[in-house]
Amino acid sequence: MAKCSIEHCNLDVYESDSKCILHCQKHEYSVDFNKIGFLKAFYDELVNSIIRELSSDYSEQKLSLYFKDELDEADSYSVDEYIKEEVIVFNNIYFPQSKEIDSFDYTKILKRLGQIHFNYCEFSTSYLDLDSTKCFFQDCKFHNGLSLSNIPVLENELNVLFQKCEFGNTVSSSPWDKQLVIDSPLFSDCSFTKINFDNTIFNEAIFKNSKDFDGSIKELEIYDSVLKKEFVLDYHSIDSLIIRDTQFQEPLHMYKCRNINELNITNSSFEKSVDFYNSSLGAFYTSNTLFSEFVNFEYCEFGLGEGIEEYFKAKFDYTTFKSFINFRNTFFYSGLDLSLTNLKENPNFLNTTIDYKYTNKETFRIIKNSFDKVGNFSDANKFFAKEMQKDLNETFFLDSPAKKLMLWFNLGISNFGQFYWLPLLYIIGFSFLLSFINYEELKCCEILNPLAKTLPFGRFLDEGKEFVHLLVYIVYSVLIYHFIVSVKRMIKR
Ligand SMILES: [Zn+2]
Repeated sequence: MAKCSIEHCNLDVYESDSKCILHCQKHEYSVDFNKIGFLKAFYDELVNSIIRELSSDYSEQKLSLYFKDELDEADSYSVDEYIKEEVIVFNNIYFPQSKEIDSFDYTKILKRLGQIHFNYCEFSTSYLDLDSTKCFFQDCKFHNGLSLSNIPVLENELNVLFQKCEFGNTVSSSPWDKQLVIDSPLFSDCSFTKINFDNTIFNEAIFKNSKDFDGSIKELEIYDSVLKKEFVLDYHSIDSLIIRDTQFQEPLHMYKCRNINELNITNSSFEKSVDFYNSSLGAFYTSNTLFSEFVNFEYCEFGLGEGIEEYFKAKFDYTTFKSFINFRNTFFYSGLDLSLTNLKENPNFLNTTIDYKYTNKETFRIIKNSFDKVGNFSDANKFFAKEMQKDLNETFFLDSPAKKLMLWFNLGISNFGQFYWLPLLYIIGFSFLLSFINYEELKCCEILNPLAKTLPFGRFLDEGKEFVHLLVYIVYSVLIYHFIVSVKRMIKR
């Protein structure tokens, strides 16, 4: 019979396969179960391979009796003690799905082992109940995802449970009845499709990637969990990141993450610093969340989507920042909303670009104040103008006609002190216009001239043209005032 195509495997091929029963492909449980003798053959060959792996302190016959539960109690105990000390290495084995009720459920054998190194193994199963067996999964493939359990880690270079593993489908930690506690560092340089953590306490780091590892995750969801170690996920591309009812007790570090199309944080707390430096984000939303220490969004791009839309606006509703927040050199392509944000310290908005259309008055006021507080009046004035423009948009004429008119007037003359050249143009234009006016024809002024003359400076007005002159002086004064204010605001407010 032909031998298995896997290197260093001397077993015969299984039926018409090119590989042996250990290495051949496995399928859904029902498919494998219905192949008569398939799962039993895998079980038997796995036991044989373990017996071959174990060193020769015990005879193969004795070990075989041990796995069949046919040894007496004293012998069984000593073999058990011996096996627990040995590290079993599984190379390239493809583990099928199993059911506890089957006599050939191979996980019963794995549970008897003390330490297992899974090397280039593949798994059709999505759950491994190995709470008391130290494991290390290296370069493994989990075709149907994995439901995490508290597997102790077998000592390795990075001391992680999974290194360079590939997870199809979903990696989850969703205990049905009680909170799951994970005591091992989990992933290093692994690739994922979806991750869903729920009701879990992570006593060790979830990710311990190498420095420049740039992975990609379609969905990352963390619900009702506590993270007791630093959460580091740099250089990643994440389609959707949702965090809800979760406590981060150590820093969160997501440096240069790309294409986070949706980031939603609700009812959560970050007790240490949070760093999203140079990340690009689509729709960003936090609500009822507490940031206790420094938060860094420097060089971040918010609101990236297909065009500028309100949906992509960055919102920090009922979110409290107890320490400093850095928005320096950030871009808010689809606007920003800080109107429901609690800020204990002034954020830094230096060189920030913010879409005008979807940003409200209150947010521009907060940004203006942040510049005012540090004496950056030039930038404060820019945001003051935007605040006033928003005030104009948000004021209804029928509610406050005087305010609406005054805001229109200020916008038209100098854009709230931003365009010094506009009042200057008006002065020139007005002077030009005056050269065409024939004062003699303004009969109404004959009645009003005596009134203008009674003013303290009435004697400086030209005889017979007092009222028109008064109006001209007022217009010039207003235009000159706006010109001076605008020039001043270019430098200081
Ligand atoms: Zn083989």
